[in-house]
Amino acid sequence: MFRLGDLISHLDMSREEGRHLQQGMNFRVRPGHSVVLMSRRPDAPYADAVEDDGTIVYEGHDAPKSKGIPNPKAVDQPDRSSKGRLLQNGLFEQAAIAFQEGEREAERVRVYEKVFDGVWTYNGLFALTRADRVPAGERIVFKFRLEPLAELSADLAASTHPERSLQLVHARPIPTAVKRAVWQRDNGRCVRCGRTDNLHFDHILPYSKGGASITVDNVQILCAEHNLAKGARIE
Ligand SMILES: [Zn+2]
Repeated sequence: MFRLGDLISHLDMSREEGRHLQQGMNFRVRPGHSVVLMSRRPDAPYADAVEDDGTIVYEGHDAPKSKGIPNPKAVDQPDRSSKGRLLQNGLFEQAAIAFQEGEREAERVRVYEKVFDGVWTYNGLFALTRADRVPAGERIVFKFRLEPLAELSADLAASTHPERSLQLVHARPIPTAVKRAVWQRDNGRCVRCGRTDNLHFDHILPYSKGGASITVDNVQILCAEHNLAKGARIE
């Protein structure tokens, strides 16, 4: 299981989820949760947004390009295929509606974010609480609201203190711009030993010690070993 802020490859993600993740939306990929992939890079295909409290507004996906649909960005995002089968947009929308009508719990959704080509982060576990169809220029797109669920942060999970290891915190993903700048500054390596595997984004001053700000100066890349060593030392 990944922890918030872990830096992973596409292969790591696919192994964790038990299937090759080719598309951005993956309803109920495993019993108990769905998976979405997001990107807020300048060239990202969809307009995913993150609000101040960490809530993600995730855009639905376009119709596949075909002879009848040469430009998917020019037509409404579909909920069903031409044969009437629910597509990913429709599956997520139905789950959100059922939750709003009190028929079920909110769908749990793991979110992975592409930071650079080949560089992904685990952004945490979210609850799908609503789905909207909204105008975007000349067409209609889906917007899915994903609210962060409490989960063990990397800072807390690295701690060996028994009480603290049971604490849960709300997901507070590091802003994309900070991730990108830190990755480039630290050359994609652990700042202590230069390793390039088992990395994650580490808050230099942990939340529990008042390190609330998530800025480039307060985030660094550490390998698992050095993160554990740090977790033990800050007791
Ligand atoms: Zn290291």
